[in-house]
Amino acid sequence: MAKIPLVDLKAQYLSIKSEIDAAIDRVIDKTAFILGEEVESFEKEFAAFCKAEYCVGVASGTAALHLALLACGVRPGDEVITTPFTFIATAEAISHCGARPVFVDIDPRNCLLDPTQVEAAITRATKAIVPVHLYGQPVEMDPILDIARKYGLRVVEDAAQAHGAEYRGKRTGTLGDVACFSFFPGKNLGAYGDGGAVVTNDPDIARKVRRLRDHGRESKYEHLEIGFGERLDALQAAILRAKLAHLEDWTEARRKHAARYDALLGPMGIETVQVSPHVRHVYHLYVIRSPRRDALLEHLKSRGIGAGVHYPIPLHLQPAYSAEYKHVRLPQAERAAQEVLSLPIYPELTEEQLEYVAGAVAEFTQTHA
Ligand SMILES: *Cc1c(COP(=O)(O)O)cnc(C)c1O
Repeated sequence: MAKIPLVDLKAQYLSIKSEIDAAIDRVIDKTAFILGEEVESFEKEFAAFCKAEYCVGVASGTAALHLALLACGVRPGDEVITTPFTFIATAEAISHCGARPVFVDIDPRNCLLDPTQVEAAITRATKAIVPVHLYGQPVEMDPILDIARKYGLRVVEDAAQAHGAEYRGKRTGTLGDVACFSFFPGKNLGAYGDGGAVVTNDPDIARKVRRLRDHGRESKYEHLEIGFGERLDALQAAILRAKLAHLEDWTEARRKHAARYDALLGPMGIETVQVSPHVRHVYHLYVIRSPRRDALLEHLKSRGIGAGVHYPIPLHLQPAYSAEYKHVRLPQAERAAQEVLSLPIYPELTEEQLEYVAGAVAEFTQTHA
């Protein structure tokens, strides 16, 4: 069996090569590289995909989070509640606003922000909550929205891993005040470089982010405030448009693979991330837990399988944050960081590859029983 990577971007490119190549040619032919028609069309199409009113294309998922938080009025001295068990960009965006991330522990069953612990973390300085739809599974939003209403807080979804995921029939992008997407190449909808988007039903947030991403301007020569150079570029927008047309099919393929993994690994007693019955999980990652995670990782590597760890260090223990949070203990996040392991999952994964991966996991569990 040839090597099985964690994601296979080449297989996806080959499956739609003529569409991608045509999209790139179209942009170069028009030499319209900054904003313009491709970006506007992508924004309309991605808003429709999310069943939301507005989409603003930006330079990355990190920029999406930063600009969305600013548009929600997050300022120096504010506190923003989020999870420690995520990619560092979630917290960086809060720090870039001059605000302080307040980490609340995760629910060990699904590795998502535990809504029952949010209220206790609220202070007079709290301005917003950033739930992260980690691995592609939406956070339990109803209790979070109730708390946000009660205390007048903004809810900024980190949907960087959750394009098309649903909570009680509503898509990410419409669950809070605003949602942030990443189009990093390996994400469920990935560009051929960096890209991101802010999605919202709030016209004021959309207008504010549109202005901030482009140097604070609404017309060519007038700058209404000090903004940023954080635009989505046209080449990426054209590529994303070509790929967006396939995203529903790709998501269904991911879900089918996950169900197959569940069926193969469940009987072996492998612990998987639990999925709530009222969500549509889009499986950016398929994650299992093992108390012997590092040995399992090595074993899979020896069999040519590109497994990963998302994430080995929770944010309060990262060198960038550890001095400030040295008295903070978040036991569930700390334990998850030692146990989680992501198996290869991508739309083009074949049944044969999937069975090979599950077989390698079985081999490890049998020899270490
Ligand atoms: C990828 C990711 C981001 C950042 O997105 P970039 O496009 O890489 O800037 C933020 N949050 C989460 C949860 C992510 O997975």
